[in-house]
Amino acid sequence: MLKDTFNRDHHYLRISLTDKCNLRCSYCNPVDLPKGYFAHSNKMSVDEIDTIAGTFVQLGIKKIRLTGGEPLVRKDAKEIIRRLSKYPVELAITTNGVFVHEFIEVFQQAGLQSVNVSLDSLKKDTNTLITGRDEFDRVIQNIGLLLKNNFRVKINTVVIKGVNEHELPHFVEWTKHEPVHVRFIEFMPFTGNQWSREKVFSHDEMLQLIAKQYAFINLPNKKHDTDKKYAVAGHQGTFAIISTMSRPFCSGCNRLRLTTDGKMKNCLFSKSEVDILSALRSGSDIVPLIKQCVWSKDEMLGGQFSTAYEKLDSSKINNRSMINIGG
Ligand code: SAM
Repeated sequence: MLKDTFNRDHHYLRISLTDKCNLRCSYCNPVDLPKGYFAHSNKMSVDEIDTIAGTFVQLGIKKIRLTGGEPLVRKDAKEIIRRLSKYPVELAITTNGVFVHEFIEVFQQAGLQSVNVSLDSLKKDTNTLITGRDEFDRVIQNIGLLLKNNFRVKINTVVIKGVNEHELPHFVEWTKHEPVHVRFIEFMPFTGNQWSREKVFSHDEMLQLIAKQYAFINLPNKKHDTDKKYAVAGHQGTFAIISTMSRPFCSGCNRLRLTTDGKMKNCLFSKSEVDILSALRSGSDIVPLIKQCVWSKDEMLGGQFSTAYEKLDSSKINNRSMINIGG
């Protein structure tokens, strides 16, 4: 059992397979990425991911999400998915969707049921502007392919004021005809992503905007949910809001993270990291390290800021960039 000092049990591990990505989303990539950054590699091997994941499973992990960077750009991603499918966990993945068509079969064989796809705009041009690459048509096709193959598809949309907040009703309209579950994510601060409080479009602002066009109802939430779910009567899909900035959900947090270089983080915003990979490579027992990392978890937001995001000075946050953590 992985319990912290606030009596929170942890059953959910997010593993970053790589910090490389084929897209250049402005909110995720640091603007000043050093030249040659993507060439660096001290990443966990397939065997190391398998061993570390197996240890977490013995300690009570019930859900593993693969993320990145873009997890599907890793050459041995298929092998990793197959290897992890042997564990008695819910296996899930978060992807930008560009390479999904090459993975449908392996997802099915591994028993994956739900796929999270990032999509920040329903307009090709805006999407290209945000992601730095022209992959909109491919992503839309691949969302269709996932739906056709009966995967549950959640769409992750980072909402940035002045960039895409006006598209929220379009996304809700999309859920009328497609069984997609769109999650609007408040813009979060990470190293180098040019966050400012003025760019945050909050949970309340999102609901006010959507309410101008749609009547919606609250859907029930589970204890560990990070999103607040809503539905419009007659729509096939739903929408939800992830309100890390304006209404954090730390009290129900059950998540742990492993970066691609094998460092464990007990929170997306944690300052400290525990070097699990070096310990494994030197033949040490990683169980006490994992337990200690969980035990040292702060009550909220990695101990780095509070709910008053309007007063936050993001330059004081000591963390990696999102692409480097694994979102
Ligand atoms: N490449 C994959 C993808 O695009 O989904 C997985 C990695 S990405 C870092 C994981 C999730 O983090 C995405 O849904 C992305 O939208 C979200 N994300 C990244 N930076 C963010 C930020 N600054 N604020 C809120 N969400 C962010």
